[in-house]
Amino acid sequence: MWGVAQPALNFVQNLSWNHMLDIGIMWFLLYQVYIRFKGTQAMRLLVRVFAVWLIYLVSQTAGLHLTSFLLWAVWIAVLILFLINFHGEIQKIFFQLNPVRRFSILLRRAMRIRLPDESVATIASAAFSLAAKHMGAIIVVEHRDLTDSLLRSPGEEIEADIQPALLETIFFKGAPYHDGAAVVRENKVSRVGCVLPLSENNALPPEFGTRHRAAVGITERCDALAIVISEERGEITCVEGGQIKKMEDEDELASWLTTRLRAAREAGQTKGRISLRHVFENWRPKLAALAAVIFLWSLGGQENQNPQNFFPQLESKVEEEFRVPVHYYNLPSGVTLPADAAKEVKIRLRGRRDLLNYIDATRLRVNVNLAKMTPGAHSRTLSGRDIDLPNGLEFLSAEPKTLGLNLAKAPRSEKMTKSSASTETPDSSNF
Ligand code: ATP
Ligand code: MG
Repeated sequence: MWGVAQPALNFVQNLSWNHMLDIGIMWFLLYQVYIRFKGTQAMRLLVRVFAVWLIYLVSQTAGLHLTSFLLWAVWIAVLILFLINFHGEIQKIFFQLNPVRRFSILLRRAMRIRLPDESVATIASAAFSLAAKHMGAIIVVEHRDLTDSLLRSPGEEIEADIQPALLETIFFKGAPYHDGAAVVRENKVSRVGCVLPLSENNALPPEFGTRHRAAVGITERCDALAIVISEERGEITCVEGGQIKKMEDEDELASWLTTRLRAAREAGQTKGRISLRHVFENWRPKLAALAAVIFLWSLGGQENQNPQNFFPQLESKVEEEFRVPVHYYNLPSGVTLPADAAKEVKIRLRGRRDLLNYIDATRLRVNVNLAKMTPGAHSRTLSGRDIDLPNGLEFLSAEPKTLGLNLAKAPRSEKMTKSSASTETPDSSNF
């Protein structure tokens, strides 16, 4: 057990706050994608998009230029396919994560606007009256989410009181807005003739046409409830969260509406509180998402590289030696640099062959900071921190490893020797 815990502990100890934030954000996003797409066709395609991306990166790292180019093209094509096919789901997720939506939910909750029981009874009786006459209709009852941005066409705003006669008039065949949905908001019929987004659920019963699909579609995207009155069969179905339930009588419909609105309201009131149960629920996918993010991150995400160079560890690396000048800087006043101070050192670097081939060796230099050095003998061991290296190159060794500096006291007027010492800081924009 300790054998696993020790490397894990070391890993956590070596993380800085920005690394933790990076991992935390990716973990949250990955888990959100998983819970929202789980078991769907979109998830299967998303896994393929990810798999093609991984294979592309591996082939690029292995230097298979033609194959990786082909895979890149395939990856773009699969990604576009995903975006086109599942734009509805993607829009749904953005809608649910929208901070403005959360704010409006809080506002509406604070205002305590609810549908009174009389209005619920009126809607239930109007629905059965429409069904008896085989008048097709969709009544969308909004709860906390506003539906405006989800409507394919906003219809007409009427803001009328809920009356049985009104609902029957709206859906009367031949009336201007009978072809569409009525939206009930805050004890008013707010809009009529609205075109709703259609559901892409393939598992809906075959007798359900576009009217039912529209009701399912809107409830998949927000917490509204929908009542569908079938023109063909004269039956009533209620939809919540994409789930359909057939209603047998007025009482059943009224109590279905009341319990849903109350349950959702109570759920809304407790939603703000995060209990320990919330933290640990679904722990397996949460843990798997965290493991996947840490795995990908430790493969190369922490190197501050672009996603194309995601697998530096898998690349075959080569070593090369360079002769580079030594640049002394921050020489304190009153101190001179000896004439025999090393002007050049040999450094050994490791990295990708293409990086080493194309590096501009004339821009490499070792920077030695002489700040606070007093007259006398000093030795300075060289490390990778003394050289500005482009991303992806690693300092291995220097020869000589240590620079011996015998600093002398400067004559009063002299502040600096004729050597390459300067008071400026090293130019870190070499690459
Ligand atoms: P029914 O059981 O009443 O026949 P259905 O589910 O079989 O309903 P259709 O027969 O296709 O559906 O019903 C078509 C009617 O559904 C349209 O005339 C229109 O009034 C309504 N409708 C279709 N699409 C939408 C939509 N996106 N938003 C709102 N209403 C819609
Ligand atoms: Mg039909």
